[in-house]
Amino acid sequence: MKNFIVAIDQGTTSTRSVLFDLNGKPIFIYRKEFKQYFPRNGWVEHNPNEIWNTTKEVLKKVINKSKSLKGKILTLGITNQRETTLLWDKKTGKCVYNAIVWQDRRTHELCEKLKKKGYEKIIKSRTGLILDPYFSGTKIKWVLDNVSLAQKLIKKKRLLFGTIDTYLIWKLTKGKIHATDATNASRTMIFNIKKNVWDKEILNLLKIPASILPSIKNSADYFGKTNKSIIKGSYPINGVIGDQQAAALGQGCFKLGSTKITYGTGAFIIVNTGNKILKSKNKLLSTICYRINNKSTFALEGSIFIAGAGIQWLRDKLKIIKYAYETEKISLNIKNNNNVYFVPAFTGLGAPYWKSDARGTLTGLTRDTGRNEIIRATLESVAYQTLDLINSMKNDGINPSLMKVDGGMVKNNWFLQFLSNITKLDIIRPKVIETTALGAALIAGYGRGVYKSLPNISKKLKISKKFYPKMADKHRLKLLNGWTQAIRKTLK
Ligand code: ADP
Repeated sequence: MKNFIVAIDQGTTSTRSVLFDLNGKPIFIYRKEFKQYFPRNGWVEHNPNEIWNTTKEVLKKVINKSKSLKGKILTLGITNQRETTLLWDKKTGKCVYNAIVWQDRRTHELCEKLKKKGYEKIIKSRTGLILDPYFSGTKIKWVLDNVSLAQKLIKKKRLLFGTIDTYLIWKLTKGKIHATDATNASRTMIFNIKKNVWDKEILNLLKIPASILPSIKNSADYFGKTNKSIIKGSYPINGVIGDQQAAALGQGCFKLGSTKITYGTGAFIIVNTGNKILKSKNKLLSTICYRINNKSTFALEGSIFIAGAGIQWLRDKLKIIKYAYETEKISLNIKNNNNVYFVPAFTGLGAPYWKSDARGTLTGLTRDTGRNEIIRATLESVAYQTLDLINSMKNDGINPSLMKVDGGMVKNNWFLQFLSNITKLDIIRPKVIETTALGAALIAGYGRGVYKSLPNISKKLKISKKFYPKMADKHRLKLLNGWTQAIRKTLK
């Protein structure tokens, strides 16, 4: 009988489940997209029922596949979009409001108010994060302040909060386990990353009752068993980890200084900083990379809010492409960007600018500008934003010499070559680009005792292609100058 590990990867635009063999090879993948809701300018929501139903659907498909292969599923790992906030009724399981997605900026004013009152410093020192609407803390407060049912349920001791991992664990165990792991907790802005506890002072500040919060576990702990009545099988959940941290594991970033960047809807760079909390002077985040055996390994993180989402915008709103992959050929076939720059600040700008009220800008348009230039400018923008992040890291004393990349966008060879040219770094694309799911599978396998050591596993990870910098400096500097001008216009 073959042994398998199953990963659930609940992402921002789709839910996936992957069946892995014990060598980390993906045997079967099933994915389901779900709807994005934009009820107002800067608001982004998901329907929790769609999140749950797609999870059940993809999981069932993968379990069926393992059965058809006469395999045995040893364990289940969960990875998920982080910060996205849900509150639900313990008794009925019904959410009191839609999931407020990490991209949502509705608490911008609240955050500004808190900043004016001088709370930025304490938040940064306790949580490692920037005081920003991006994280769960002010999103929870928004629901508590704006949804009357939430207050009623607190009085009845029935309200529960969770990030997506917590919600899925709770649903899969049929309400038995209300827990999260330290990596997910580290993104809520109410969690003390040094002490590994919910921070009482911040909870008081935001008026969040501790009674609604999940318990905090290691990333490779036992999170309960799936309930038979839900997916026709009882499987232990032995690993839970936020999506970016999972990708870092899936890329084998176990060593101090190893770096990965994931290009999905947004893009996220993570550098392993070992057992030290490295405090950025350049608005990068300090966060937990993974926590095993009650010991946290930390990371420095930077994010780009809009990466692949820019390509989705070309497809779904501008309708100038039909498929994301078309962007590769189009960019390859035009000589240059014709001086067109696009800053896709649809939901504000992340590090190093952190300007949540910035909005998108397209510059350098002439009568010659057509769809091709706009498409190329969109791909290029992701590389420039990456360089901005890397420069911030350099100022914090981190100097990566190469970068491992993954996520939906890295199928695009033109993009990766341009990225290498602009960042002047060697870029490595792994063979398995489902690294997020792989990270969840590895951590679950470790939790289950399938693997004895995490670093040893990275020996099994294979490279598919390397990209080396090729652009002449003069040309590169001209492009960078164009980008700087476009950013200046956006920040005005
Ligand atoms: P997420 O996990 O955030 O849902 P994925 O890692 O699945 O995202 O990546 C999907 C993103 O990658 C989409 O935004 C899509 O537009 C983009 N994408 C997919 N294929 C390509 C491609 N060939 N070129 C550029 N972008 C692509």
